[in-house]
Amino acid sequence: MAQLVQRYLDRIRAEHTGVTDGALADYIPELARVDPDGYGLSLSSVDGFVYESGDTAVEFTIQSVSKPFTYALALAHLGADAVDAVIGVEPSGEAFNEISVDHLTKTPKNPMINAGAIAAVSLIPADSPGERFAMIQDFYSAFAGRRLELDEEVYASEKATGSRNRAIGYMLQSFGVLDDDPDEVLDVYYRQCSLRVTSTDLAIMGATLARGGTCPTTGTRVADASVIKRTLSVMVTCGMYDAAGDWVSAVGMPAKSGVGGGIVAVLPGQLGIGTYSPLLDAKGHSVRGVRLCRSLSEQLGLHFLTVSRDSRATLRAVYEPAEGIRVYEAHGDLLFSGAEQLVRTAERERADSDVAILDVTGVDDIDDAARALLSDMSQALCADGKQGFLVDPDGTVVGARADLEAIRFPDVGSALTAAHEWLAQHQRIPG
Ligand code: GLN
Repeated sequence: MAQLVQRYLDRIRAEHTGVTDGALADYIPELARVDPDGYGLSLSSVDGFVYESGDTAVEFTIQSVSKPFTYALALAHLGADAVDAVIGVEPSGEAFNEISVDHLTKTPKNPMINAGAIAAVSLIPADSPGERFAMIQDFYSAFAGRRLELDEEVYASEKATGSRNRAIGYMLQSFGVLDDDPDEVLDVYYRQCSLRVTSTDLAIMGATLARGGTCPTTGTRVADASVIKRTLSVMVTCGMYDAAGDWVSAVGMPAKSGVGGGIVAVLPGQLGIGTYSPLLDAKGHSVRGVRLCRSLSEQLGLHFLTVSRDSRATLRAVYEPAEGIRVYEAHGDLLFSGAEQLVRTAERERADSDVAILDVTGVDDIDDAARALLSDMSQALCADGKQGFLVDPDGTVVGARADLEAIRFPDVGSALTAAHEWLAQHQRIPG
């Protein structure tokens, strides 16, 4: 049953391959030169298992996807009160590069628009711009679980053409938001935007956020849960700028996009998603990336208001009542991430057993994505020359699928009897 989840992701990605709307960012030549067809999707579970589909090894510049991470670094060093005194948390409803501050406080409205992001850079405590950038680079790299490098050419171009950001920097200085030389702060901002990532890096960075600040691939604790909670909150309300409302209703995951073509989306407690496609809409978001996230959310049931409980607890027990038979006992709410974890566990262990019994007696609720995945799992087992049985007294997984009735049992006892019979028929009687 190799790669069930992989096939889902490949299929959902393929739905948007034909989309060629949008335009490459062209404010600097380096971004206008990239291959417009580049298209990658990566998904990392909170335990660090990464699925990749398409151009997931293509490097691009992180651009504004950097903003939540620098904000998190500022929070980690200064605490929320000190950061709040300089940067608000209200959605601005404006474009990312609007030259604006809050009317009353004269501070940037939030850290996801350029004004707030530049202010966040200035808060990182360091003695020099070089040291400040090194802290940022180290911090992002810890989120990604690998060293992220600077794209020197993009950096040089950003710096040469950044009039709008300079206007924002000097405006912030005039309002007393920036204590440091605006050009020095901007230099670090341009460098942070020019760090190179892949969609897989973004997925792992997202999974680090999803896991409350621990990188799933290295196990390193990068930031406190309180810092992550605040960062994710601002991503919900402000991450997609003036499209934030639309995004929250259609996709329902804290997210951040960048004009390099990347989007990071996070399902807290469950997974991180990274997408790459450099053709952008009028608001600066990747056209295919937005559509892809929307489809993933719809088809896998990833909206954060649908997914209310932590699905890591889904698999309550795995036991071997007899040689060649393994029982997987699921409970609670079974949603995409929980089903993914279950399928992956069964897949990893499939060499060790001939019959897998999935006991869903204790499952309270299941969504369509999980139901589809688990019914496919039973079929995939058969295709592998193994057998899958379901203990599903209430028809939770089987639902209306008549083809699964033959493998459905009311209790573990009867499933075990069937499993022994199957082993005997297939001459796989232990001993
Ligand atoms: N470097 C870009 C800028 O500051 C990043 C913008 C973005 O990705 N939205 O204008």
